[in-house]
Amino acid sequence: MTRVTVWGENVHESTSDRVREVYPDGMHRVIADALNEDSNIRASTATLQEPQHGLSDEVLNKTDVLTWWGHCAHDQVSDEVVERVHARVLEGMGLIVLHSGHYSKIFKRLMGTSCSLCWREAGEKERVWVCQPSHPIAQGIDRYFEIPNAEMYGEPFGIPVPEEQVFISWFAGGEVFRSGATWTRGNGKVFYFRPGHETYPIYYQAEVRRILRNAIHWATPTTPRWVDEAPNVEKVEGAE
Ligand code: ZN
Repeated sequence: MTRVTVWGENVHESTSDRVREVYPDGMHRVIADALNEDSNIRASTATLQEPQHGLSDEVLNKTDVLTWWGHCAHDQVSDEVVERVHARVLEGMGLIVLHSGHYSKIFKRLMGTSCSLCWREAGEKERVWVCQPSHPIAQGIDRYFEIPNAEMYGEPFGIPVPEEQVFISWFAGGEVFRSGATWTRGNGKVFYFRPGHETYPIYYQAEVRRILRNAIHWATPTTPRWVDEAPNVEKVEGAE
């Protein structure tokens, strides 16, 4: 059983009627429901507005994989919580960063680069191509799938060269974007997945939900938690 915490900024949902129409209970709820369709995943939610943003030591210690959606309130996430999440990723917790989470403090901290991109909100068609058909995150997806109305994200994307490029997107306006990519940080696996925007029903789409579940399984730690204690040690060779 993989224990997942779905983190949602949960600001647009309370400030915009248009967003509330699409996600009346919040995007985090819809994402958690998509994950809980898999009986081997147990997903709960946490939001910015909760004490410690819902990400206390106690919660993170019981989280195998964390998903992160943020957009307009990245700067309201406390540095202390970012430090805590960062440490947990290095220990082995998986992290799935979604859509506008590319500019979150935690993603920028883990990547060490600008994480910048270009964008346009014009309801364009997005065609998401599978780059690695054998990758666990791409299972159940055909050569490509399409999102009828999406916000465009375009290159250059200010990320370090990914360890694996799972998806690449083409947009009707002509741009392309590295929309699914993986990295390892310490003992933890990190996956960035582009689709998802507060005004489009993208997290209800079957292919997107399948990829999210695949990503959880891929990012689930398979080795014991790795706690860095920087020990001072005795010599091994020639010891009495
Ligand atoms: Zn967006």
